[in-house]
Amino acid sequence: MIIKMRKEASRTELGELIDRIRGFGHEVDVSTGTERVVIGIKGDTTKISIDEVLGMAGVEDVVRMSKPYKLVSQEYNMSMNGGGKYSTIDVSGVKIGDGSLTIMAGPCAVESEEQINASAEIVKQAGANLLRGGAFKPRTGPYSWRGLGEEGLRLLAEAREKYAIPVVSEITSESQLELFKKYGIDMLQVGSRNGRNYDLLDLLGKQEIPVLLKREMGTPVEEYLQCAERIVTTGNSNVVLCERGINSFDKYCRNCHDVNAISAIKYELSNLPVMSDPSHATGKRRLVLPAALAAVGAGADGLIIEMHPTPEKARTDAFQQVNQPELENIISLSRGTYNYLRQHM
Ligand code: PEP
Ligand code: MN
Repeated sequence: MIIKMRKEASRTELGELIDRIRGFGHEVDVSTGTERVVIGIKGDTTKISIDEVLGMAGVEDVVRMSKPYKLVSQEYNMSMNGGGKYSTIDVSGVKIGDGSLTIMAGPCAVESEEQINASAEIVKQAGANLLRGGAFKPRTGPYSWRGLGEEGLRLLAEAREKYAIPVVSEITSESQLELFKKYGIDMLQVGSRNGRNYDLLDLLGKQEIPVLLKREMGTPVEEYLQCAERIVTTGNSNVVLCERGINSFDKYCRNCHDVNAISAIKYELSNLPVMSDPSHATGKRRLVLPAALAAVGAGADGLIIEMHPTPEKARTDAFQQVNQPELENIISLSRGTYNYLRQHM
C-alpha cells in the first residue's frame, strides 16, 4: 500500500500517521520527494482500511498495490523515490540500467587459463563491460562435463585482475557461496535451472553482492518477478533480470526468445534493469545478432553474449558461442541501435 501525503502536510501529521501504521504492526518506507512525502507500507495490508487512512490528517491519496510483487514493481517504485525512477545496479563500478547498453560477454565455461585470458582480451577489446564465465555448469545430462569448479573461479578472478574487468559467474548451490566470496566474484548469476530455487534466492537476498537472475524457462513473467521480489524483500536490492528464452513447442531454436517479456518488464511491470541472453535464447551462432537487436528494440538494458576464442573447440555450447569479429559486430550494431532508439523513441 502507498500513501501519498498532501503537499502542505505537517511533520506532526506525518509522525502521527507513521505511528498509527506502525501500531498496526507494519514497517514503513518513507520517501521524501521535492514536492511531497510518500509512504510505502510493507507486508500484507489487507486488514488496513483505505477509508480509515484517507480520513487521517495530511493524507491525499491511498493506493493499494495490485501486484503480488511490490518492491520490484513500477507501480510502487514510480510512486516512491520522487517518481519515475528505474533502478541502476552497480557491479564494481559498471552500471546496468543507467541509459547505456551494458554488455556482458565471455565463454560459456572457463576451460583453462589460456582460454579465459584470451577471452578476456577479446571481450575488453570489443568494448564489453563485464566478463562472464561458468565454473559450475548445470548440465542437463549427468555425463556431460560440469566445469572446472573452484579452479574456474580462481582463473576468472585472475583474469579480472589482469584485464581490469568485473566478472560474473553462475552459482548453482548455496554451498558454493563462500567460494564466490573468496574469489571476489563481482556478480552472481542464478541460471535458469535455479531460477525458482527459493532457498538459493533467499540466501542471495541476505548478501549485498549483485545478482543476475535469469528467468526459469517455464516461468510466467509475473511469477518471475516474484522470484526477484524474494531477493529484494530479503534485503538485497541489487538484482538484474535476464530473459534467456522460454520453452515452446518449436524445437528449431534452443528456446523461444520472449521479447514481449522484455518490453512488458521494461515499460509496464518493473523498475529493475532487464537484460537479454540471445545466445541461450537461440542456441545458434548465426541468430545471436538478430536476437540481440530484437532485445534492444524491446527495451533491454544489456546483453549477455557467449563468445569463445575458438568456438568450434568449446567444451560446452559450441554451436552458440561467437568469435571475435562476430562479437565486435554484435556489440557495435547493438549499441548503435540502442543509441538511435534512445534518441528517437
Ligand atoms: C549460462 O549462462 O551459461 C547458462 C547455463 O544459462 P541458462 O541458465 O540461461 O541456461
Ligand atoms: Mn552456455
